[in-house]
Amino acid sequence: MTETVDALAALVAGGGVVVLSGAGLSTESGIPDYRGPSGAARRHTPMTYQVFTRDAQARRRYWARSHLGWRVIARAVPNEGHRAVARLQSAGLVDGIITQNVDGLHSAAGSTGVVELHGRLDEVVCLGCGNQTSREELDRRLREANPGFDARVAAVNPDGDVDLADDEVAGFRTVDCTFCRGGMLKPDVVFFGETVPAARVARCFDLVARARLLLVLGSSLTVMSGRRFVLRAAKLGVAVVIVNQGPTRGDGYATVTVDAPLGRLLPALADRATGGVAPAGLTGVGG
Ligand SMILES: [Zn+2]
Repeated sequence: MTETVDALAALVAGGGVVVLSGAGLSTESGIPDYRGPSGAARRHTPMTYQVFTRDAQARRRYWARSHLGWRVIARAVPNEGHRAVARLQSAGLVDGIITQNVDGLHSAAGSTGVVELHGRLDEVVCLGCGNQTSREELDRRLREANPGFDARVAAVNPDGDVDLADDEVAGFRTVDCTFCRGGMLKPDVVFFGETVPAARVARCFDLVARARLLLVLGSSLTVMSGRRFVLRAAKLGVAVVIVNQGPTRGDGYATVTVDAPLGRLLPALADRATGGVAPAGLTGVGG
């Protein structure tokens, strides 16, 4: 609704905004949100750090699926929502962007200084020596190690996982670090059961403490990893605005909550807040 956009724009136009984004912002880029309205129940339990590091079979399964899912992630492009956030930032209204997404789409849309809370799927780290390499390079190595591995991509989760039958997984060959020769490779993302590096968390708390407004975009705030910033904002008296499709676990702390598709609402919000003209056709946006 126009009133919703106007009210949000009035809040955002005051500047000092810190964005906290989640999977819902990337669904319109073709990366499904398994907790949001478009995502059904999760097909399989997300990989945990403990299982990944201790279970070679589970690790093989992860890489086989992830190898296929990577094609989808790699070709995803920013949507209108990411671009609107970048516009708000370049207009000087957004002081910081914290994202729970591992797709790199904020930066691809032109945003700078993005704190990628859970890391990036396009980077790979060696658990043996800490050497970082690109996923592109790993993708090439995995393709070379698995010629003809052309299992069909069925469904993709935000972490790049896809459905794959057991027999298809069995023949998949994983590869190790070439730098220390044998170190275990892991996508440089924070798995369930793994903690976000302390310095990264501190940087986020600092952003929240200096914010005038915490704008949550497309996160159900299910995990404490993101929700803690909403709790901190509320504790510090920093206003919290939540735009998400469906309820969130932070709604009780929010000054304003809006249930709307981000790809439609955010461009209008950016237009209004930066003094532009909102595009027509926003009727039907709930709020
Ligand atoms: Zn290594």
